[in-house]
Amino acid sequence: MKIKLLGFLMASMLSVVVLGQTKERWQQAIKYEMEIDMDVETHRFEGKQKAVYTNNSPDELNKVFYHLYFNAFQPNSMMDVRSRTIKDPDRRVGDRISKLSEDQIGYQKILSLKQNGKKVDYEVVGTILEVDLNKPIKSGETVTFEMEFEAQVPEQIRRSGRNNAEGISYSMAQWYPKMSEYDYQGWHANPYIGREFHGVWGDFDVKITIDKDFVLGGTGYVQNPNEVGHGYQAEGVKPGKGKNGKLTWHFIAPQVIDFMWAADPDYTHVKAQVPDGPELHFLYQKNEKTAENWEKLPEYTVKAFEYMNKTFGKYPYKQYSVIQGGDGGMEYPMSTLITGERSLGSLVGVTVHEMFHSWYQGVLASNESLYEWMDEGFTSFGSAETMNVIMEQGQENPQSGNYRGYYALAESGYEEPMSTHADHYVTNFAYGRAAYSKGATFLGQLRYIMGEDVFYPAMRTYFNEWKFKHPNDNDFIRVMEKASGLELDWFKEYWVYSTKQIDYGIKSVMEKDGKTFVTLEKYGEMPMPLEVTVTYNDGNSELIYIPLRIMRGEKSFSSDANATVMADWPWVYPTYTFELNQSASNIKSMVIDEKEGMADVDRENNVFDAAKHLKSTFDK
Ligand SMILES: [Zn+2]
Repeated sequence: MKIKLLGFLMASMLSVVVLGQTKERWQQAIKYEMEIDMDVETHRFEGKQKAVYTNNSPDELNKVFYHLYFNAFQPNSMMDVRSRTIKDPDRRVGDRISKLSEDQIGYQKILSLKQNGKKVDYEVVGTILEVDLNKPIKSGETVTFEMEFEAQVPEQIRRSGRNNAEGISYSMAQWYPKMSEYDYQGWHANPYIGREFHGVWGDFDVKITIDKDFVLGGTGYVQNPNEVGHGYQAEGVKPGKGKNGKLTWHFIAPQVIDFMWAADPDYTHVKAQVPDGPELHFLYQKNEKTAENWEKLPEYTVKAFEYMNKTFGKYPYKQYSVIQGGDGGMEYPMSTLITGERSLGSLVGVTVHEMFHSWYQGVLASNESLYEWMDEGFTSFGSAETMNVIMEQGQENPQSGNYRGYYALAESGYEEPMSTHADHYVTNFAYGRAAYSKGATFLGQLRYIMGEDVFYPAMRTYFNEWKFKHPNDNDFIRVMEKASGLELDWFKEYWVYSTKQIDYGIKSVMEKDGKTFVTLEKYGEMPMPLEVTVTYNDGNSELIYIPLRIMRGEKSFSSDANATVMADWPWVYPTYTFELNQSASNIKSMVIDEKEGMADVDRENNVFDAAKHLKSTFDK
């Protein structure tokens, strides 16, 4: 198929040009209509799902795949075995899945499935439903799948589940049969072993019937607020009474990759408004462990949204909900589930982090299995910057915690390239540090390479150009290259596809005829452009900037930086010498990368030490 296509393209250079220039990357499309009826005694629900699926790919599809995430919560599931055999298991899971009884496990059972009104053959294989289509779906064609299913919510929280540690009844993530993504890299029917997701952009129309005392929140806009009440109704309206003790909640969510909901009879529901931004909903159980900090949370959340919108691009939905539930903090479209019994700093921190995912997981939605760092890392970078501003932390480098996380990974001996599929890291530690810390450090270093004035507008360009398109690492770096005029592929290749490290140092300082010659050495394998800050005894200082030849350009400095641009450094040269027009005795201090923008694994050799470096005569 591929070879044929290639041949065709090569035969007609004209079509290469036309395709390359005009055809955007295609996206599959799906419209879900779901109705579920929840039994809060048995924690089971029955569901009907209609999915209208459009194949926008150039390929004919003979199969489709759905995710059945709840099936992971069963003894001997892949998630259970993975949790029991990995060297450093997630404390929240451990061996607990292996001990779940029949009425504690999770499941999604498919009762029937039709394609355009006709029954289709399917097989449930762990957490994946494999469907053999009656008729292939042609490129451009739309088909309708109708499904009946039955599910039990597991009594074990890993993102989703019932009765979490803080007593929240239902954390309903990954609760419905969800169509796998088919994109330019093919099908992504990843078995669920606990890591994150990839999905088709879809419009959701969801009706949830549940005991009338339960308060709900999650992805999507409530369509019948006056009927369901619980703080959603217009002022003065008396909500409906429901039928047989139950109410039906109707939600709509346009253009999202997933749909989460949570429910608890004891939620307090508070609203706030971001000026020129979304309406915020907060749902939490009010008690002595939560009341004080959750009352302050809306104020900080509003500030965070304003900063994030201004700095990283505008959040496109009209609503966002912060909901107590789950097992830590997990992001979903238009909402998050977080544990709520926390200090104020921790509560605001987790909220800001999860909200930030709306940009990188929710709207850009890079495949989190293949490019986990483009979600967790970029989110960690952005949330550190935001926390510094809204909590008035006054940190000179808000990324220093992320850099430290990377250094610990680099030293550990467990590091794997950041390009590793999220499910396939050997340890949870290596996954976590790569995705979060090394991913954030990716952006921290790009900001260092490009300069702040170019970096932030480029981040907004990236958001605006790639929203709703699942960008990959190359898509991202191309935006950065165009914005900076620099060649940056080398940076991506080293940082993402290798575990090579950065280490530069001052090798020697020599004086001749009242001038000083400084020799730097590249000890690490990864090249970087360098900034050397020299401070003289008279109090003046200058910034010596050495670009890399393979960048084919230079960083843009702000006018007050007093930067001297030196000749570029061809990376194969182990050393580099530059000249200062002052005698070495006038140098008070000299340091490579004073602001610590570069993730140099050994900073000790970055600092000028007269006793060690100064040589009175030229050896050569
Ligand atoms: Zn995260």
